Amino acid sequence: MRCGFCLPACPTFRETGIEAESPRGRIALMKAVADGLMDPDEAFETQMNHCLGCRACEPACPADVKYGQLLEQARDSVEKHTTTHRWWVKAARKTAFDGLFPHQNRMRLLGGALQMYQKTGLRKLVRGAGLMKMFPAHMREMEAILPDASYKGVVEQIGAFHPAKGERIATVGLFRGCIMDVLFTETNKHTVELLNEAGFDVVIPESQNCCGALHAHSGEQDGAKALAKGNIAAFKAAGVDWIASNAGGCGALLVEYDHLLHDDAQWKQDAAWCATRTIDVSKLLVEHGRLQSAAQAAVAAGAGSMVGSGASIGGANNGSRSGVPASAPAAVSAISPHGHAAASGGCGGSCSGGLGFASDEKVRITYQDSCHLRNVMRSSEAPRKLMRSVANAEFVELAEADRCCGSAGIYNLTQPQMAGQILDHKMEHVKHTGAQYLLTSNPGCLLQMKNGIEKHGMSGQMEALHLVDFLHERICGKH
Ligand code: SF4
Ligand code: SF4
Repeated sequence: MRCGFCLPACPTFRETGIEAESPRGRIALMKAVADGLMDPDEAFETQMNHCLGCRACEPACPADVKYGQLLEQARDSVEKHTTTHRWWVKAARKTAFDGLFPHQNRMRLLGGALQMYQKTGLRKLVRGAGLMKMFPAHMREMEAILPDASYKGVVEQIGAFHPAKGERIATVGLFRGCIMDVLFTETNKHTVELLNEAGFDVVIPESQNCCGALHAHSGEQDGAKALAKGNIAAFKAAGVDWIASNAGGCGALLVEYDHLLHDDAQWKQDAAWCATRTIDVSKLLVEHGRLQSAAQAAVAAGAGSMVGSGASIGGANNGSRSGVPASAPAAVSAISPHGHAAASGGCGGSCSGGLGFASDEKVRITYQDSCHLRNVMRSSEAPRKLMRSVANAEFVELAEADRCCGSAGIYNLTQPQMAGQILDHKMEHVKHTGAQYLLTSNPGCLLQMKNGIEKHGMSGQMEALHLVDFLHERICGKH
């Protein structure tokens, strides 16, 4: 089929109007290579590199063409064929893909170096001396919005096991991510606390590693497979019912480990286990979790109705997958900070609740989908249900929230012009929401949104946050 239904969904086609910049055009090029009509040469590589890999073309396709899998194969064949990479490109790739991402201890060292740069005044010195001017504009912009890095990851900070509050629904393994654990350690900690609050034991297997997404998307299939096997072994050994992901880009590869290892007789069964047990944290909370409802909290506190602006969270889906414990009734009505309800239990531990939480403040929120979360993990309703259910928060839909923000892994670094163009269009829509919080569910998208807010002079009115951090703040209160 060459119906073209995918064309309007494709950000690069929308930006350029050129057939070769569309999914249909790219598939035609891939077919020409597969049929031996052309080589996977530099021109082909350029075209493949222009693709964001956002996979918005997949849900739009009536023939269920697995574009993402085709793209990975195409990039793999480019990698095998190319002789054009400069030596420093090869060295940088080898250092990052083989020497850094697979080793969490080295990632932490990098986090420590970044932390030192950020905290010791070195950053001020570098900026003051004008050294950042040596870098291209898009790298300077990224440097300016990098969050505080950490030498210690989530396990080093809070330990590897965290029991559920109240009756245990299931045991969840947290996929902590390599970059996520260095740059967004707080989000990982907040994820653990939310899951505990919702009734899940949380285990964070220490031997897990990078998901392999950057490898797979860059044509380094062997590296991606090795990392996948490490993760499958780690979560199998931990005996978990679910594997929770709070980063759309990582989760999307975990749910496709079965495809990645489909021709590996030894691993394909465990890979399928891993793929079916991986779930987005929003979906886990909405479909299987238990969160304090505002209505219940108000009754417990004798404070009358405090139900927020949104609709109810969807009904329970009690452990629909085989072997997964049936959940208690799922989250209901509007989510409330437990501080309103003395009887509600609260987050406990570091999340001690109390009356000083921020959720009395009425806020307007909006949401940018993570492409991989939406198009691959097919989780777009659960985050919205959660947001609509937060007390005193008005959720406003962002126009074209389902369209890529231009982050796309490292696309904003490798293709800055197209990424910048896509971001500028995105921020026009963001402005119209009038929201104080722009939420998203993937670290790359979050950094891109922070960059957009700075670039468009909106930092006085709006803040970009991970959805988990926002929920944690509203449910557990500020610390
Ligand atoms: S993955 Fe995204 S950018 Fe690439 S062809 Fe599909 S819709 Fe277009
Ligand atoms: S990829 Fe799917 S939607 Fe796009 S042209 Fe082919 S069949 Fe049609």
